[in-house]
Amino acid sequence: MNLVTRPGRVGIMGGTFDPIHYGHLVTAEAARWEFALQKVIFVPSGRPPHKKDYPVTDAEYRYQMTLLATASNPYFEVSRSEIDREGFSYTVDTVAEFRREYGPEVQLYFITGADAILEILTWKDVDTLLRECHFIAATRPGFQLNRLEESRPQLPVEGRHRIHLIEVPALAISSTDIRWRVKNNKPIKYLLPEAVEEYIRSRGLYRPRLDGVYEKG
Ligand code: ATP
Ligand code: MG
Repeated sequence: MNLVTRPGRVGIMGGTFDPIHYGHLVTAEAARWEFALQKVIFVPSGRPPHKKDYPVTDAEYRYQMTLLATASNPYFEVSRSEIDREGFSYTVDTVAEFRREYGPEVQLYFITGADAILEILTWKDVDTLLRECHFIAATRPGFQLNRLEESRPQLPVEGRHRIHLIEVPALAISSTDIRWRVKNNKPIKYLLPEAVEEYIRSRGLYRPRLDGVYEKG
């Protein structure tokens, strides 16, 4: 059998990646390993439909940082799918696009932090999503798994078994904290790959703008 065309399992790691950090990378690698995924595709968001409470960095910068961070892992890829799509990006559209690309045989696994999954499961497209893909939710510090368990009964019965939980080493790293650190001249070393750190420095990302309005958190 031709290995290249053998139906497999593909992971999709969506995120704002503003910036990408070791929390994302550890989670993607843990999911790849535990679910024997043939690869994990990182999908930086275009325009997020949920308004963020801070100005999201230009997509090209976020895309470049994601490329830099994933380059050393042969199982990781980066997709421009959401960045290049017009208008707002919805997970359901992204998953549908990968379904078209990889065909009906492939099993898609959408990887998220356990905090993000609760949000996703309240979306109106949850039935379609659970039909099209599995979800791997990684726990991270401060998240109470019982909140997910409590919401499970509200999920469509056929889809409930498609939500998997994994534990990743407790990483209290978040992009919010990294942006705050840069802004306040605190170190970000060892929170994210050096190449990304260097990119942030050379482009002057996350520094307060001259007009003084930048981000809240
Ligand atoms: P922000 O602080 O701006 O919200 P973030 O660190 O949460 O950023 P996102 O780009 O929003 O990063 O996250 C993309 C995905 O990665 C989400 O599913 C999120 O839950 C997950 N994630 C983020 N940080 C971690 C972490 N430290 N451990 C595990 N999963 C994480
Ligand atoms: Mg987040």
